[in-house]
This record gives sequence, C-alpha cells and structure tokens, in this order.
Amino acid sequence: MKNGQLYLIKVGEIALKGLNRDFFEKRLKGNIKAKLRPYQSYINTQKGRLFLEVEEACPPAVVEKALSTSFGVVGFSKCLKVEKTDEAIREAARLLMQEEPFNSGEGTFKADSRRADKSFHLTSYQLDCLLAEEVHRIHPALTVDVHHPQMTIFCEIRDKAYLYSSPKSGLGGLPVSTAGRGMLLLSGGIDSPVAGYQMAQRGLRMECIYFHAYPYTSDEALEKVITLASLIAPYLQGTRLHVVPFTEAQLHIKAQARPEETTLMFRAAMMQVSNMLAEKSEALALVTGEALSQVASQTVEGLAFSDSFSDLLVLRPLVGLDKGQIIETARRIGTYETSILPYEDCCTIFSPKHPVTRPHKAETREHYEALEMHPFLVEAVANTKTYDFTPLGVLLET
Ligand code: ATP
Ligand code: MG
Repeated sequence: MKNGQLYLIKVGEIALKGLNRDFFEKRLKGNIKAKLRPYQSYINTQKGRLFLEVEEACPPAVVEKALSTSFGVVGFSKCLKVEKTDEAIREAARLLMQEEPFNSGEGTFKADSRRADKSFHLTSYQLDCLLAEEVHRIHPALTVDVHHPQMTIFCEIRDKAYLYSSPKSGLGGLPVSTAGRGMLLLSGGIDSPVAGYQMAQRGLRMECIYFHAYPYTSDEALEKVITLASLIAPYLQGTRLHVVPFTEAQLHIKAQARPEETTLMFRAAMMQVSNMLAEKSEALALVTGEALSQVASQTVEGLAFSDSFSDLLVLRPLVGLDKGQIIETARRIGTYETSILPYEDCCTIFSPKHPVTRPHKAETREHYEALEMHPFLVEAVANTKTYDFTPLGVLLET
C-alpha cells in the first residue's frame, strides 16, 4: 500500500498462548478490518504484534476508535517502518521528535529498543544510545530518566526497524466472536449495557433484545435503547437490536396475574420470548444485567425462577458486583449519561407495590402456566422489529 498509515498493535500474550492462536488472530484481524471499512486495510502478523496498514484517506480518529474498542487489542501506536540501517533509524527518530509528546521539547524520556532479529549489528543498549543521541540533537533540553520517563521512544528490530512513541492502551480481553453467540436483554437502565460489555470482553458475539410496551413506555424510551445499542455496538463488534412489542402480553398479565406476582410473570414471559428469538438467531446463551439482591426480583429464588424458563444458559456477569462498580464501568464505556435519562422502562410502570421476593418455584410456575401466555408470545415474536448497527455503532437505515 502506497503512503499508508502504519500502526503497531500489541495483542495479549496470555490469550495467544491459551487459545488456538490462529483462530484468535484471524478473528481479531477480521474485527479490526470490519471497523475500518470502506477504507482499505491490511494486517500482517509478527510474534505478539500485528501491523496494520490503512490507506491514507482514513481519518486517524477512525483508526483510533476501531482499535480502542476492539477486545483483544492490548495497546497500539502509530508507527514508522524503515530499513535496518543506522541512518534510516536516526532519520525516523528525528521524525518522531516532531510529533507529540516529544515536540514540546521539555521533560524526561527514555529509549527502549528490542531486537527480535538478534543478528542486528547493535545491541539493544547501543541502539538506545543511538536513539538518545538523536533525541538530544533535536531537543537538547530533554533529560533521560530510565525509571519514570514522561515519554518513551521505542524501536523494534524485526524484518524492518519499527519506531514509535506513546502507545495507547487497548481493552485487552478476547476478540468478539471467539466465544459463540448470545442474546443480551437490553433495557434502558445502567446495568444491561455494562453486562453486554463484560460478555463481549470474553469474546461473546451478541444481539440485543428490548421489550417495548408502547404507549406505557414512550418513544423516548425506545430512542434511548437505540442510543444505548449504538453506544455498545463498537464493543460488540456491531449488533442487531430486536424490539419486541410487549404491550398485549403485559396487559394480559396485569389483568390475570396475582398483583404481587406480576413482575415474576413478566420475567418468565421475557425469558420465553428471548429463548424463541435466540433460537432464530442460533444463539446459545442469554445475558442480563441482573445483580444479586439489587432489586426485589433479583433474589436467589427470583433468579432461579427466571432460569427455569430458559433452556439456554443465562449469563449474569454483574451478579456479584455492587452498583458503584457497575456505574464506574458505565461511565468508562460511555453509557452512563444515556442510561440515567428519565424514561421509565416497562417493568417500572407495571411493577406491583408489594412484589413476591422469594417465590416458591413450582407453585409460581403453575400460576404462570395458568396465564396461557403462548399465543401472546408468538404474536410478540412475529411483530418484532429489528435495527442493525455497524461494527462502529452506526444505525443502518432499513
Ligand atoms: P437495568 O439497569 O439493566 O435496567 P435493573 O437494575 O433496572 O437493570 P431490572 O429492571 O429488574 O433491573 O432488569 C433486570 C435485567 O432484565 C436487566 O438488566 C435486563 O437485562 C433485563 N430487562 C429488564 N427490562 C427489560 C426490557 N424492557 N427489555 C429487555 N431487557 C430487560
Ligand atoms: Mg431496568
């Protein structure tokens, strides 16, 4: 590629050892390239590193977003690739001095060289000295601090010499789609987007399901969930949001169920619909944002009751976290501000004053069976609308 931009990407050593390495790398490459479309990109692999070349026309902010939201990337940096000669390396070092953070010309630095090619004629130490000399030639005021430098110039000798500074950190984790498929029950709250993020971190590919009880839940509530889906989509490597019209089912439950059991009945119905949608999408797990004891329905008995309506594994990555920890993650991943917008979700509006918190499973299941929900659920699935989001989180027009 002529005049392409080059990035060095660090990938997790542990993941490379622990999993089938080719499989892992292939997914990661595919995921990154999908985020950079329609720009041309090319990724080549070298021990513990990926080198990404992207066409010049691609804005650096797009590359950064792609790399900083892709699980499996531990760190990355724009980098220069030159011949393995002293003069070429010196020249590249001088070029790096024109850019952040070195261009300020002040502060402390160190040079950090390593040789994958041991036949190179300088040792790492000699190479460090050569780089430091060039740094001082351009910025005489910079001082060396090998223990706590404010900036570092890196040089790696491989098939070529690669120079870079100030790598940015990535998310770590495992590339999405290395761990099968799941369905995320995405409400408008704080928890479920975080739950999706956590499972994507372990490589699960996910579609999202939202139960919408219009007009009891407003258009704004749906807009909010669409926004949340687009915010988490880059971490999920793109997703599909299924919006299930749930009004009829909820009204039926509200009219027929014991008032104190309505929430449990809603949850049973949600699990069944989620299983039906999962089957269509060939997903093998459900993911929810439930945490033990956070609300009335999230007791051990309540969760076990919900589980009994799912043939699929139910993953609850937040189960042992407290709200403060969940909020911290929500802020970091950028969903918090949207989650706290004041549009109620369906469970809030339909929730009873004195819910049963410790249901007797067999008995409560019988009460649910008596509601004969099946036709309502089939109807809801048939009328489900879908929204698709690109790997960078853009909602596609349908
Ligand atoms: P959240 O903050 O994620 O809304 P919550 O603390 O408000 O969670 P609940 O409302 O009891 O707790 O919901 C528990 C979980 O059930 C949610 O995290 C989500 O996974 C799922 N859920 C609840 N309501 C809906 C909905 N309307 N559509 C899809 N999933 C839902
Ligand atoms: Mg909620």
